[in-house]
Amino acid sequence: MNKTDMKVFEKHESEVRSYCRSFPTVFNEAKGSKMWDEDGNEYLDFFSGAGALNYGHNDPKMKEALIDYITNDGITHSLDKATTAKGQFIEQFNEVILKPRGFDYKIMFPGPTGTNTVESALKLARKVTGRTDVISFTNGFHGMTIGSLSVTGNAAKRRGAGVPLNHSVTMPYDRFMDSADTLDYLERFLENGGSGVDLPAAMIVETVQGEGGINVASKEWLQRLESICKRWDILLIIDDVQAGVGRTGSFFSFEEAGITPDIVCMSKSLSGYGVPFAITLLRPDLDIWAPGEHNGTFRGNNHAFITATAALDYWKDDKLEKSVKHKAEITHEYLQKIVENYSELKGEVRGRGLMVGIACGEKELAEKVAEKAFELGLIMETAGPDDEVFKLFPAITIEEADLKKGLEIIEESVKSVVK
Ligand code: PMP
Repeated sequence: MNKTDMKVFEKHESEVRSYCRSFPTVFNEAKGSKMWDEDGNEYLDFFSGAGALNYGHNDPKMKEALIDYITNDGITHSLDKATTAKGQFIEQFNEVILKPRGFDYKIMFPGPTGTNTVESALKLARKVTGRTDVISFTNGFHGMTIGSLSVTGNAAKRRGAGVPLNHSVTMPYDRFMDSADTLDYLERFLENGGSGVDLPAAMIVETVQGEGGINVASKEWLQRLESICKRWDILLIIDDVQAGVGRTGSFFSFEEAGITPDIVCMSKSLSGYGVPFAITLLRPDLDIWAPGEHNGTFRGNNHAFITATAALDYWKDDKLEKSVKHKAEITHEYLQKIVENYSELKGEVRGRGLMVGIACGEKELAEKVAEKAFELGLIMETAGPDDEVFKLFPAITIEEADLKKGLEIIEESVKSVVK
């Protein structure tokens, strides 16, 4: 195999590339929780494609299903035509995920990415309510297009637009979330007539802010948010693009809170195999778009239907859920010990399930820990408004031994950084 010169990227790829800089090597193979670069170096992957690979790389059952489908000349692309693969996914998603949880949603295919599902939710909420504004929260992340960016509460990302982004109201969001301050403020805001003229169409929120620094919304906070939405007839959109598909322990991240969002956005790990795929789940009475009012070429990736259907096998019993809870306990305990043993870190453990991180007292520390970890063979990223959180996103199917090995690397990295 000819090795790729890193300079190829520097010379020809746009300056906007970012992960290419954080992990300066050329990767070419991956299986389960491991990745290998062209030099044969092995890395433990605690990044999981920013939450797009919850089941790890190249899951054998999904791979087999996909190879089988391709070998039999299954349809790859069909826009949104009815296909066997699509029918099977819709049926299985309903049977395995929605029905047992008591949810009644229509499934819409908005386009292949997380941003696509968010855009569809924002647009639909406006059409349904006839209102324009959408309330979102500080440090929330919802995507990079004009609409989804307008509800993203991160100044650095918003700067990418270069102009003010209208029609969104970003609420200050208490990082600890148990405090009801944000919601008190929100109620007063709504009582006073919202943004001045109209009530908002919707509120959009992540139950655990991923890019924003692993900020966990409590059950009570989410329940109260739901009741505020009901009181003011505002649609509640849960963006489960990153926190969904088992990352927090249950399939949907909001199950534990016992709420029923009006619209749910899902993507990332939904295809299970890293194939671009997204769905928007809507309350059936919100299904008001006429055919063609919201379409797009890549709404029907049949390879994604195949792998996503195979991934649903993980949810036919509670084995995975239980094992995520077990591994989450190990992780939280281990991280807590790191924080206690290395007080120079001024660290705070955050998270739910296997969506976890340590917020460091100083921004540079998190980056240094992530850099050191990479040197020691572990891939993880940083998050938060100042990149002050190092974020652990192991595959939810990770072997316990690999999880422990990764945690040890993190401890060693912290030790070497704080010395
Ligand atoms: N919502 C959330 C919560 C996300 O984390 C992301 C991606 N990080 C998106 C939306 C946008 O998804 P995509 O990058 O696939 O467009």
